[in-house]
Amino acid sequence: MAVRIIGGGLAGSEAAWQCAARGVPVTLYEMRPVRPTAVHKTDRLAELVCSNSFRGDKLDNAVGLLKEEMRRLGSLVMRAADASRVPAGAALAVDRERFAEVITNTLANHRLVTIVREEVRAIPESSAREPVIVATGPLTSDALSADLARIVGGEHLYFYDAISPIVLAETIDRSKVFRQSRWGRSLRAADACGVDDGQGDYLNCPMTREEYAAFYDALVHAESATVHDFDKERFFEGCLPIEVMAHRGVDTLRFGPMKPVGLIDPLTGREPYAAVQLRQDNLAGDHYSLVGFQTQIKWGDQARVLRLIPGLEAAEFVRFGMVHRNTYVNGPTVLAETWQVRAQPTLFFAGQMSGVEGYVESAASGLLAGINAASLAHGDAPMAMPRTTAMGALAFYVSHANPAHYEPSNITFGIMEPLSRPPRSKQARKIALSERALADLDRWIATHPESATTAAR
Ligand SMILES: Cc1cc2nc3c(=O)[nH]c(=O)nc-3n(C[C@H](O)[C@H](O)[C@H](O)COP(=O)(O)OP(=O)(O)OC[C@H]3O[C@@H](n4cnc5c(N)ncnc54)[C@H](O)[C@@H]3O)c2cc1C
Repeated sequence: MAVRIIGGGLAGSEAAWQCAARGVPVTLYEMRPVRPTAVHKTDRLAELVCSNSFRGDKLDNAVGLLKEEMRRLGSLVMRAADASRVPAGAALAVDRERFAEVITNTLANHRLVTIVREEVRAIPESSAREPVIVATGPLTSDALSADLARIVGGEHLYFYDAISPIVLAETIDRSKVFRQSRWGRSLRAADACGVDDGQGDYLNCPMTREEYAAFYDALVHAESATVHDFDKERFFEGCLPIEVMAHRGVDTLRFGPMKPVGLIDPLTGREPYAAVQLRQDNLAGDHYSLVGFQTQIKWGDQARVLRLIPGLEAAEFVRFGMVHRNTYVNGPTVLAETWQVRAQPTLFFAGQMSGVEGYVESAASGLLAGINAASLAHGDAPMAMPRTTAMGALAFYVSHANPAHYEPSNITFGIMEPLSRPPRSKQARKIALSERALADLDRWIATHPESATTAAR
């Protein structure tokens, strides 16, 4: 009985801890420092590659709820984060050195954990008594990525994330936009960027010739974010950032994501000169993404340029557009709610490469993958968590979202099962969702002894 885990980042470290805490010996393979990545700077486990923030820490915030659930499940990442906390208002920010040190030392000193510093170039054989967890993150090495493509199918493995901005629905000026689907099928079939295939139900922001000219001018003069070297100019043709398209010609966008064809503005009775489409982004309908609007313009400039779009003058952005290296699988096609690979249930994926987004979400997926791999090694069945919990909702999203438009997601209240009788106030609704989640989690822990951390099994 043993578990092998590839990748000693946030997900892999948490998974290793969960297995060891259940009495299952673990071998954790981490390629640093033998083989560095483009962004990690140390040889520590669970190195935070960018910000030192784990985001909100209150229960009126979905990521705050996710963290509380992880604490209740004995998370090492949360223990290390709480022990290295620095002042950051309502957010949980950490001293990154201390955080990684706590995790590295805890795992290195655990009698059931063996840390091997080498690059794993092919996914090892797995079995029920010896499951394997792959948690190699957004910068999975090239050799392993090639092997992953063999297992999941190349068409279900992505290497770059081209993320469109998302706006808060209540900040869209509904008097300027109209709800309509493009007639018939679009000139381009639906693709990974979610260009309209005519099936959806869109909010359309119409533009006059003058409005388009002003938007175009602002776009080509906007400041582009500096990206890491490996990202430079290696975009998929089908997922080009809007500013790259704009630089190709003044009308390129009007034949791409801003094409007006098939749309009739009810205010004018005519096809607009250009149009931006907004697609509902979450179940709750309070987030809308700008279709095909992936961009790497700096965030300040991005807000300024996008607010030139009619209807978005006062838009609040839930997420800005980005383009960055990100290896991840198409979760809904590949994974089950337990983080097992559907086609090979003794193999688990966790962390960013499983199709989640963010430090906390990566660690959370590692937590459940670790519990389930340990269960399997003990001869028990892996478990899904209630969809009413943040952890369960995240696993459900990754394994059940629409595979045609799949994008990694942060945890939000919008992907959690709605309340049957939601309070009217938004704040009260969030608190009610959190209270229900924690009550359901406690019940789930009480009825699933396998979820408890005990080496004495
Ligand atoms: C540039 C960048 C910035 C980001 N900034 C943020 C941010 O500020 N906030 C946020 O919440 N999220 C951020 N993310 C997203 C994500 O949350 C982090 O990448 C997070 O570290 C993911 O956790 P993970 O465990 O999946 O991967 P990682 O933490 O990257 O861990 C994966 C580990 O696997 C190792 N590895 C890779 N291939 C192999 C192999 N073949 N054999 C052995 N080991 C291997 C790597 O060295 C690494 O240590 C960022 C991502 C990127 C790429």
